[in-house]
Amino acid sequence: MSKAIQAVRGMNDLLPEVVERWQRIEAGARDVLHAYGYREIRLPILEKSELFARSIGSQTDIVEKEMYSFEDRHGENLTLRPEGTAGCVRAGIENGFLHNQIQRLWYAGPMFRHERPQKGRYRQFHQIGVEAFGIESADLDAELIFMCVRLWRALGFDGLTLQLNSLGTLECRAAYRRELVHYLETQRGKLDEDSLRRLDRNPLRILDSKNPAMQEIIAAAPDLFEHLDDASRAHFERLGDYLRQAGVAFTVNPRLVRGLDYYTRTVFEWTTDRLGAQSAVGAGGRYDGLVEQLGGRPTPAAGFAIGLERLAELLALQGGSHQGVRPHGYLVLLGEEAERQGLSLAERLRDAGLRIECNGGGGGLKTQLKRADRSGARHALLLGEDEVRNASITIKDLRDGAQRSIAQNELIDFLLGSNLKNKEDKATADERRR
Ligand code: ATP
Ligand code: MG
Repeated sequence: MSKAIQAVRGMNDLLPEVVERWQRIEAGARDVLHAYGYREIRLPILEKSELFARSIGSQTDIVEKEMYSFEDRHGENLTLRPEGTAGCVRAGIENGFLHNQIQRLWYAGPMFRHERPQKGRYRQFHQIGVEAFGIESADLDAELIFMCVRLWRALGFDGLTLQLNSLGTLECRAAYRRELVHYLETQRGKLDEDSLRRLDRNPLRILDSKNPAMQEIIAAAPDLFEHLDDASRAHFERLGDYLRQAGVAFTVNPRLVRGLDYYTRTVFEWTTDRLGAQSAVGAGGRYDGLVEQLGGRPTPAAGFAIGLERLAELLALQGGSHQGVRPHGYLVLLGEEAERQGLSLAERLRDAGLRIECNGGGGGLKTQLKRADRSGARHALLLGEDEVRNASITIKDLRDGAQRSIAQNELIDFLLGSNLKNKEDKATADERRR
């Protein structure tokens, strides 16, 4: 046997059990997003590298060391997207759906960052992202946060913490940056290696250093809040009012700066204490300058992204069983004639809206019943020589083993009656029968 090939480091296979957990999150998210009038957009995974340098910022960790970039066969420099906002803005400008319009959009899919893989941190990971364009006021910022709150509630998560900050406009951030660098220069001897590297390139990032040795220096750093322009300050206070009014708890964290350059005014992050070091489950903020920066007309905007791997882990920790989609019946076929009739019987049942797994590849009664059990179906439907002769079918309830025989033409009603207690299933079945 030759050596088996393994997956790329940091890129995971999601097996069916895990996918079922993801689907629960995705379905919950879709309901919440639609409740707020957001519409799905689907965007390419590959973009021109320049897009990310111009939006996320050429001096950021993501662009400096985490991107999967390569030249294609024609020498064009391309990158596997590390996040979704840049591509969404690019698409908005290119398709002309941003200018003078209000757009509420969402997307979901894989993102790629060459980070050190560890629990909760992967090289291919998945986000649900939300972007809204054309609203400058803080009611939009509040709406984005309410959406998160509603999603956490739908998934049964409690104990998530909201941290909030304002970065002001690009101009007041630049003024603050000069003052911060001036202060940090006086502390140069005490800065760790990471901070020294960031000092010239991205000094604000030093503020969210996790190194305990840096905390004292950070605590004594000048306060970004004092540099906020009046309009940004009013915006932030307005948002605080909306949140208090809705009873949404938050902590103001003046050291929350986020790793992407495009943010202005509001930034926020949702964290949990249940996932260890990788504690952020979602983050976002306002990026009023980005559309113009990428060549569009000035358009205010804000958004957020949540990490599916981390949410799925939270859901798993929460326990409780969740059954994904299971077949209503497993068709056991015994003998040549049963096999011949079985395929078309299964089709008729599916026509009625039922989910049927049909035995494939033969096998004796015992083997087939074992497969039926493993399929998760509620009923095994046995078609053997006797049943073929009598146009009947034997139904075995796989939960209690009870067995009964009915006419084949009663089978659909029986299965619909016993399986479609679930409202949604019933609606689909009714639809098909009409
Ligand atoms: P972190 O501080 O954990 O590195 P981030 O600030 O880089 O997060 P964002 O770029 O804001 O994260 O992305 C939003 C969300 O996507 C994060 O809150 C997190 O849940 C998830 N996420 C980001 N990077 C990864 C990764 N490498 N693996 C898994 N999930 C990730
Ligand atoms: Mg990161």
